Amino acid sequence: MKIAFIGLGNMGGGMAANLVKAGHTVRAFDLAPVALDRAREHGCETFATVQEAVAGVDAVVSMLPNGKIVDSVYASDVIGHAPAGALLLDCSTIDVATARSVAEAAIAGGYEMVDAPVSGGIAAANGGTLTFMVGGSDDSFAKAQPILAAMGKTVIHAGGSGAGQAAKACNNMLLGIHMIGTCEAFAMAQRLGLDPQTFYDISSVSSGQCWSMTSYCPLPGVGPQTPADNGYQGGFATALMLKDLKLAMDAAKTAGSEVPMGQRATELYEAFAAAGNGGLDFSAIIQTF
Ligand code: NAD
Repeated sequence: MKIAFIGLGNMGGGMAANLVKAGHTVRAFDLAPVALDRAREHGCETFATVQEAVAGVDAVVSMLPNGKIVDSVYASDVIGHAPAGALLLDCSTIDVATARSVAEAAIAGGYEMVDAPVSGGIAAANGGTLTFMVGGSDDSFAKAQPILAAMGKTVIHAGGSGAGQAAKACNNMLLGIHMIGTCEAFAMAQRLGLDPQTFYDISSVSSGQCWSMTSYCPLPGVGPQTPADNGYQGGFATALMLKDLKLAMDAAKTAGSEVPMGQRATELYEAFAAAGNGGLDFSAIIQTF
């Protein structure tokens, strides 16, 4: 297929390369020349504008920083410029309301569109092992599935437009909450005189077990290799966790959901990022305790 790819940053760069590897012709656009250089190295054709990149394509994939940019790129340069009937896939993490309004405008313009945010970081984007959670009609999902499968290992249909972003917001709110809970428990265990490894051995096979403990342990030297073992470098940045928690709080407000734990997790990550830790992996919040 001929696929336009818009936004070839940390995540999009690797994803576009995987589409090339799967045999697609990829027409790339990014505002940053360095991203375009890297895209060319990975076999993409590059263009000076979005409108040129989307000319004559079967599908458009975007991986952009936020909802405002997604809205403006689709409204100004994709809708009415990509061929009618093209499939539009936005993989950025954005708010549910914008995902739904952009999809509505796209469908009204004669396109099919899915929101398909991802779980997994830069390594998963490069390695083609992302998880995609997809919002859109059954037909659009069926068409999007093989394109997304070239960039990930799991592709799940979450429901109608916006359902992918809703799943992502709920999942990452839960992740923020159980990471903080895990950090609190490790810190308190130590203050109570428990050896951290002993506490891990007990809790990892007891009812306190969770992903933050056994797959992403926030304490160096305990559990599997994680960013904690690397000075909290790499991994999933605190600033991105905070972005996702804020999106979850917006979604909670729209839905009228009470999320006291999500709210508290957002406040704690906000304070941790404001103290200059936005670039550290999100498990570094254990330093707060
Ligand atoms: P990034 O900042 O590295 O990449 C974004 C790219 O978009 C940049 O290259 C930028 O130049 C480009 N861009 C910005 N405005 C543009 C425009 N108007 N037209 C064309 N290109 C434009 O960010 P990233 O880490 O690749 O994240 C992208 C998305 O993926 C975000 O929504 C983020 O929340 C989500 N995400 C990131 C991770 C992660 O670990 N980095 C994990 C899951 C989801």
